[in-house]
Amino acid sequence: MLVGSIEAGGTKFVCAVGNEDYQIKDQLQIPTTTPDETLKKTVEYFQRFEVEAIGIASFGPIEIRKSSSKYGFITKTPKAGWEDTDFVGFLKQYLDIPIFFTTDVNGSAYGEYVMSLLSNEKIDSLVYYTIGTGVGGGAIVNGQLLGSVGHPEMGHVMLKKHPDDMNFAGVCPFHGDCLEGLVSGPTFEARMNKPGKEVPLSAHVWDIMSYYVAQAALQATLILRPDKIIFGGGVTSEKFLVKVRRDFSKLLNDYVEIPKLEHYITMPEIKNNGSATVGDFALAMDLLKR
Ligand code: ZN
Repeated sequence: MLVGSIEAGGTKFVCAVGNEDYQIKDQLQIPTTTPDETLKKTVEYFQRFEVEAIGIASFGPIEIRKSSSKYGFITKTPKAGWEDTDFVGFLKQYLDIPIFFTTDVNGSAYGEYVMSLLSNEKIDSLVYYTIGTGVGGGAIVNGQLLGSVGHPEMGHVMLKKHPDDMNFAGVCPFHGDCLEGLVSGPTFEARMNKPGKEVPLSAHVWDIMSYYVAQAALQATLILRPDKIIFGGGVTSEKFLVKVRRDFSKLLNDYVEIPKLEHYITMPEIKNNGSATVGDFALAMDLLKR
């Protein structure tokens, strides 16, 4: 059996074909240009294979309510040219197969969940954050993706400011100093006029960042009490998470019991940003089982 995955990002679409063991059989990257051009190339790619269903993990915001006339659309995105794009509808014109549509972080969260089941980790809930060009979060609770009116937007929660960061207004176009506005990749340029890659982990700004990311982990802990919290995305690293765990411990102050910290706040199990692809394969296969 073959299923498809579309990891739709702001700079590229990663299309993949895989089997029931989540093994990637073929993969293609398509630059994200105009909706028409990118989606046409996506269709042409999948027409080469006998895929039975496709999972899409898309940048957003997106409409996931089946009852909405805009179901399957990318809605209010700041990505130029992509606002109000009928993503699923376009594909359905050419590919008459079941399609599961969700956010990039939900896809990643589901991939990590499936991987934990395969490794007998015995968890039934997790939260997945990505910290990169933007910040997003998805959650699995009792094996299900969370959200009904829409998908969660955990990247835009409000936080307590770090005392050494009071003058930084943040970069979120909607809220200024929400989580995304304070820790996304572009905050390095805004605070220091250089990309994050050039800022050593010893720089104080990383302590400011970890204070915020630890608050996100605290909120996820207090609201959902998940089995684990995963941080992916270009800004995250194992060494950065050491700081996050330190700050998280201080903030939590032993208030509730959590799993062993190194297992609780972690990087993705699936390497090379592959979580969403595995999640998409799994979500596509779930459609076929229904
Ligand atoms: Zn925001």
